[in-house]
Amino acid sequence: MAVKPKVSNGSTALEPAANEKDAEKLRFIEEMTMNADAVQERVLAEILSRNAETEYLKRYKLCGATDRASFKAKLPVVTYEDLQPDIQRIANGDRSPILSSHPISEFLTSSGTSAGERKLMPTIREELDRRQLLYSLLTPVMNLYVPGLDKGKGLYFLFIKSESKTPGGLPARPVLTSYYKSDHFKSRPYDPYNVYTSPNEAILCTDSFQSMYAQMLCGLLNRHDVLRVGAVFASGLLRAIRFLQLHWEQLATDISCGTLTPQITDSAIREAVMQQLRPDLDLARFIIKECSKGDWACIITRIWPNTKYLDVIVTGAMAQYIPTLEYYSGGLPMACTMYASSECYFGLNLRPMCSPSDVSYTIMPMMGYFEFIPLDADGTMCNGAQSQLVDLAHVEVGKEYELVITTYAGLYRYRVGDILRVTGFHNAAPQFQFIRRKNVLLSIECDKTDEAELQKAVTNASELIKPYNASVVEYTSHAYTKSIPGHYVIYWELLIRKDQIKNGKSGTIPAELLDKCCLEMEELLNTVYRQSRVADNSIGPLEIRVVRPGTFEELMDYAISRGASINQYKVPRCVNFPPILELLDSRVVSTHFSPGLPKWTPTRSK
Ligand code: AMP
Repeated sequence: MAVKPKVSNGSTALEPAANEKDAEKLRFIEEMTMNADAVQERVLAEILSRNAETEYLKRYKLCGATDRASFKAKLPVVTYEDLQPDIQRIANGDRSPILSSHPISEFLTSSGTSAGERKLMPTIREELDRRQLLYSLLTPVMNLYVPGLDKGKGLYFLFIKSESKTPGGLPARPVLTSYYKSDHFKSRPYDPYNVYTSPNEAILCTDSFQSMYAQMLCGLLNRHDVLRVGAVFASGLLRAIRFLQLHWEQLATDISCGTLTPQITDSAIREAVMQQLRPDLDLARFIIKECSKGDWACIITRIWPNTKYLDVIVTGAMAQYIPTLEYYSGGLPMACTMYASSECYFGLNLRPMCSPSDVSYTIMPMMGYFEFIPLDADGTMCNGAQSQLVDLAHVEVGKEYELVITTYAGLYRYRVGDILRVTGFHNAAPQFQFIRRKNVLLSIECDKTDEAELQKAVTNASELIKPYNASVVEYTSHAYTKSIPGHYVIYWELLIRKDQIKNGKSGTIPAELLDKCCLEMEELLNTVYRQSRVADNSIGPLEIRVVRPGTFEELMDYAISRGASINQYKVPRCVNFPPILELLDSRVVSTHFSPGLPKWTPTRSK
């Protein structure tokens, strides 16, 4: 029997549970959220007492204190850059207890970057249990809203990435690669509510083509059993649809013959897929009929007709993909189930079937210790905000905050860089809408490009056109996601000083040189961007659109006509507002694409 919790702030009780196992998990959620503040106090005391002897806590003279007041008085609020010297020592092989008393088991490579490189987040083995605990809460919550998930399967496109080793010999890999490769995932007990169509062997292959091919093929073979289709982020699911558009003929051939294309060379995948693959002419004909029309509207529900919802994150940077997913799925609900990062898994959405614009995540108080930097109504930091961090249980509805975490793995008062707005409470635990990531201008997939990186890329690339007495006088950018994979579009307004033409140059910049500028910009973007371009093929070639002189002045006129102040007007370095994009596009005089791939190697440059 599920408990009947006291309900406050309009939240609903989590019941009735689908079964006794779910009831236990839902009771756990209720217990944690009803006692959010007490749980937070306990978590902080646990973290500080077990790590009392670490170099970091001694450096700040915490002297074994485990209470909130001493913690807040003595420990600074920090960013990755502040911790980098300590993290580098650990990466270089120093095994002394620098941040954590528990041995660092590996580094998680965050999609956030510092100086162009992925951030390295030290983690400890027991964090895997904590992540799994959060995962284990998702299905009981989903079962409250979608009955019968035990009667079919989930088609999830899940991938791992190649990993490297730090100089000290610890693995460095993304958090999901770490999780899928762990026994927690590989040896998970059978659960009728969580049967995947993808064999582990397909998920665990680093070759993204072979992995995707096998996962798509198994999804097609099980098409009537599939009750939900998902990926971690919306961009991943769209890549899968694109893959189907490109490879349906080969997939249909394999299904009609009952043989697997020789392009799949991974023997573990071959063996796993061949256990399911039998010649099936009807299915092959069906796939050809549906995919050869060239009409991809509702393709998800046409191929997988029993799909009840899409399981993908479409909040934050992924919101740009909602219209495309609606088109491919005929408007199926999109469930955003959890909010997590490499540093810490934060919480879950207790109403996963709500519309994407209403998604709120309940931060689970046992996952770490959470504090919040209050922001003003305009999204900037309040005066003295850093010294007035608010505790989880004391945030106010309607206000925006920047998230600061203290983790069991040894991050203390660490700024995650996410901006959240409080939308309400579930019991005593606040619920947050994800607003944005601080300082991120452009994002297609996992990449996060900030204003400084874009500025540097434009400045360096514009050096190439200097011999033509040309310079970039204004620029802005847009993440173009109408085609898959999406790509960065950079609008350039050029000034060509024809009066100073020397060296026999004609005063017109050759198109190939502007193409080269695209590649030059890509070379200067961060490692996550370049990996997405080179290894994952999840971002298309960067595009420069040259606009005619005076365009940016028109842009300013437009902004002023809509109420912007002339004194304070700044050229937006990224635009998404359709009328402004239309204005820019109507002034384009030439377009240029990167002619090659930027340099990228899987190893870190330091
Ligand atoms: P990573 O550094 O690669 O682990 O990425 C973690 C970041 O992804 C978070 O700090 C958020 O900015 C973003 N993120 C994760 N989950 C969500 C979500 N459910 N909605 C929006 N953004 C998310």
